[in-house]
Amino acid sequence: MSPLLPVYKRAEVTFERGEGPYLFDRAGRRYLDFGSGIAVTLLGHAHPHLVAVLEAQAEKLWHCSNLYGIEPQQRLAERLVAHSFADTAFFCNSGAEALECAIKMARRFQYGRGQAERHRIITFEGAFHGRTLATLSAGGQEKHLEGFRPELPGFDQVAAGDLAGAEAAIGGETAAILIEPIQGESGIRTLAPGFLEELRHLCDEHDLLLMFDEVQCGMGRTGRLFAYEWTRVTPDIMTLAKGLGGGFPIGACLATARAASGMTPGSHGSTFGGNPLACAVANGVLDVLLGDGFLDHVRDVGERLRGRLDQLAAAFPQVVHEVRGQGFLLGLRCEPLNTDITAACIARGLLTVPAGDNVVRLLPPLIIEQEQIDEAIGTLAEVLQDFAGREAAQ
Ligand code: PLP
Repeated sequence: MSPLLPVYKRAEVTFERGEGPYLFDRAGRRYLDFGSGIAVTLLGHAHPHLVAVLEAQAEKLWHCSNLYGIEPQQRLAERLVAHSFADTAFFCNSGAEALECAIKMARRFQYGRGQAERHRIITFEGAFHGRTLATLSAGGQEKHLEGFRPELPGFDQVAAGDLAGAEAAIGGETAAILIEPIQGESGIRTLAPGFLEELRHLCDEHDLLLMFDEVQCGMGRTGRLFAYEWTRVTPDIMTLAKGLGGGFPIGACLATARAASGMTPGSHGSTFGGNPLACAVANGVLDVLLGDGFLDHVRDVGERLRGRLDQLAAAFPQVVHEVRGQGFLLGLRCEPLNTDITAACIARGLLTVPAGDNVVRLLPPLIIEQEQIDEAIGTLAEVLQDFAGREAAQ
C-alpha cells in the first residue's frame, strides 16, 4: 500500500518550487498555477514580502502558547477587526477549524442567553464547510458523509437560494444560519442578488446569528477584501482560512462582540492556532492586500479575465455551458467531464481545479497580469478546441 493514505486521486506531477504565478516540476517544466492550491496562494509562490516576513519571524519566535501574549497574533486580530464588521477574532489552523469555532460560538451565544435549546443551524444544499464530523454534517453532502455516519445532529439543510425554505426551517431550536456567499466546492454557485440581505432580515426577525463562510471567497478573491462587502449587510460571524495565510496554514473566526458573548476563558482553544509564524505571514498578506490600489487592480484584472472567458464560452458553446463567479473565483460549467479538461490543461502546463456541477475552477493568484491571462486563455482555447473537435467527430 502507498505510504500515503490514498484519500486523494493525485495527478502524475510533483512540484519542486514556485515563483509568482508559476510552479516548476522535478524536471523543471513550468506550469501556470490557476488553482493556487485551491484558493490558497493568494500572492503566488515565494512572494518576496511573505518570504521576508516569514524569515524575520522564524529568527525570533516560532511557537508560543496562547497562555501568553503573541504580538503578531494581536496585530492580525486588530487589523482584521479594523477592516471588517467584527469586534474580535479567534485563530486556528484551517477552514474546518474556523467553522467548528463558528458553530460552537453560535450554540454558546444562545446558551449564554438562557436559550440552550436553540442549537440548530440552517445550512444550504451544495455547501462545503470542511471535513471534520461537525462540518461534514453542516455541509450535508452524501458523497462526503457516506460511511462516516452517524453525523452530528443539529443541522437543517434547505435548497441554495430558497428563502421561503429557510424561513420554514426556522424553529424554536434554531440558533443560526450558515452560508457561503459564493459556494466554491460545489461549482462556484452564486446567489440571487439580495438573497444574503434577505437572510439578514430573517436572522434579525427571529433573533438568529448570521454566519458567512468566507474560507474560499474571502481575502480579496472577489475583488473586495471580503465577499460580503458586495452586499449591503454584514454577518455576525465569519470564517476565514485558505488565502489568509497565502500558503501558510491559518484559519480565523471573526465575530461581533454580541455573537462572541458566550466565548469565555476556557470555552475554546487551540495549541497551534494563532502561532507567531502563521500570524506574521497573514500580516504580510494583509500588507499587500491593503496596499494602495491593490484590490482596485485585482478587480480590473478580474474583469479582463472574465471578459476573455466569456469570449471563450461564446466560441465553444458545445463545450462550455456557462461562466460563473466573480473576480478571481471563476468557474466554467462544461459538457465533457471537468476532470478530463483539468487533466488536458495540466498536460499543456496549466493548473485548474475541478468542482461540483462539472465545473472547472479558475482560482489564479491575485498577482497575475495580462501576460498570464493571455497564456491561460491560449491554453484553454487549445484544450476546448480539442474537445469541441472530439464532440463534432462523434
Ligand atoms: N469552507 C469552505 C467554503 C471551503 O471551501 C473549505 C475548503 O475547501 C473549507 C471550509 C474547509 O477548509 P479546510 O480544508 O482548510 O479545512
